[in-house]
Amino acid sequence: MSQRSFIVVGGGLGGLATGLRLAHRGHRVTLFEKNSAIGGRNTSLTVNDCIFDIGPTLLMMLDPFHKLFRDVGERFEDHLDISLCDPNYRVFYSDGNQIDSTTNMAKMVRSIERLSGPVDAASYPKMIGKLGEMYHESLPSFVRKNYDSPLDLVRLSAGKMALKHGMLGNLAAGMKKYYADPRLQMLFSFQTMYLGLSPHDAPWVYAVLVYMEYGEGIWYPKGGLTEISRKVGMLAQQRGVDIRLNAPVAAIDGKSVRLESGEVFTADAVICNADLPYAERDLAPTKQPPKPHRYSCSAYNVYMDYEGELPDLLHHDIMLGSNFDENLDQIFNRREIPTDPAFYVAASCKTEPSMAPPGHSNLQILVPCPNLDHPWTEGDAINLETKAFARLTKEVGFDPGKIRGFKRITPTDWKRDLNLDRGATFGLSHDFMQTACFRPSNKSKANPGLYYVGAGTVPGNGLPMVLISAELAEQRLEKDGLL
Ligand SMILES: Cc1cc2nc3c(=O)[nH]c(=O)nc-3n(C[C@H](O)[C@H](O)[C@H](O)COP(=O)(O)OP(=O)(O)OC[C@H]3O[C@@H](n4cnc5c(N)ncnc54)[C@H](O)[C@@H]3O)c2cc1C
Repeated sequence: MSQRSFIVVGGGLGGLATGLRLAHRGHRVTLFEKNSAIGGRNTSLTVNDCIFDIGPTLLMMLDPFHKLFRDVGERFEDHLDISLCDPNYRVFYSDGNQIDSTTNMAKMVRSIERLSGPVDAASYPKMIGKLGEMYHESLPSFVRKNYDSPLDLVRLSAGKMALKHGMLGNLAAGMKKYYADPRLQMLFSFQTMYLGLSPHDAPWVYAVLVYMEYGEGIWYPKGGLTEISRKVGMLAQQRGVDIRLNAPVAAIDGKSVRLESGEVFTADAVICNADLPYAERDLAPTKQPPKPHRYSCSAYNVYMDYEGELPDLLHHDIMLGSNFDENLDQIFNRREIPTDPAFYVAASCKTEPSMAPPGHSNLQILVPCPNLDHPWTEGDAINLETKAFARLTKEVGFDPGKIRGFKRITPTDWKRDLNLDRGATFGLSHDFMQTACFRPSNKSKANPGLYYVGAGTVPGNGLPMVLISAELAEQRLEKDGLL
């Protein structure tokens, strides 16, 4: 096959992995990134001398990472030094109870028995067994798949798989069948929030997230998760990908792109990694408006240089509020700032002390909140912060007077800095009608020559899914005779 040329729009992990895959096959790749650094959501920031991952902090599902490195003749472990977070995280309930999530089955059974009694504890190994089966079977036949039409679900093995595991049933309802204690129902369903999705709107297939955590574990790469994009970007450059930073693309027309600077570049195909609904509307508009999409929630993030250590926190912690259903309803249906928000807390210095100076902690919080369907105000930031700080004070002795430096990222910032439509941090929603064959395809029908990669297309959001989306984009180009 002769050498082809490709343009990648966006240097998030999806764009970088695609560039790496194509360049490894000997093709010419030029990647345009609007910002001054690669990584997109997977980048870092510093507050004083504290280092933070801006977005992803939980490394799960290692298979797609190993596969990318293997496919380009490298070994993942030669580039990333990872360790298991054990426990995965600590969950704080509003009734004062806590539970540590771990991959250790015996410990989990004992903890559940202490919290909720023997009947619920006996359900745990059954649930993990079932979810493990669904995870291993769904990956090849349901997730790692380019769909051409919704009928594929009926025709292909994907359909059989979906029926066998009840994949398209409702996740919140499914967990009620395993556990009587609402605290356990919460414990094993809040993971859909990683996708910015309410468990009440999530198909059962996303319960595999629970298996990823409890069956395979949460991992941490030395230097933070930002190292992943950095290493993939480095390998891409070594294979010849021309990465151009500060190069925002203004328009895509099939196989050509026009930069905001006015320069025009043409290739054999364009692979767009920028947020799909934004790109469809602003970069590659067509006469026929795209189908309306549904969006994930957003996140309000605070990154702090905190003087002192909080011994009751682990590296990863989850604070659940008093009424999870109300919390979800406010975010996803009423589009209000939650009155008693659940939120995530991290301090990676607990695993890697050099991420903060001695005696300090790199403390960050992520509060799920409505996307910009709710007009964001400064008052919302103060409101959420006050609530989160009060909860941290109560649970672990946090003292706001010890904050020595501080940065916030609001839904408005997510939109402005990364072009995430509606400030929806996790992109398009993963409800049933935007999952698998119903999710926007990685090949534009309206704009021949344009392909998509990343969280907005198949299979979806999250670093491992985005790496699979790069595999699927490569397969699509191959099928179309471009590779
Ligand atoms: C707060 C937060 C927490 C998360 N936590 C986790 C986690 O713990 N684990 C996990 O696996 N995943 C997590 N995720 C999800 C994960 O970060 C994303 O799924 C993934 O990084 C998306 O990668 P991407 O390549 O699809 O898109 P992006 O990272 O958004 O990259 C798209 C790139 O396109 C660029 N771009 C946009 N418009 C243009 C333009 N016009 N011209 C040129 N370039 C453009 C952007 O600047 C950006 O660099 C989290 C996300 C967030 C935001």
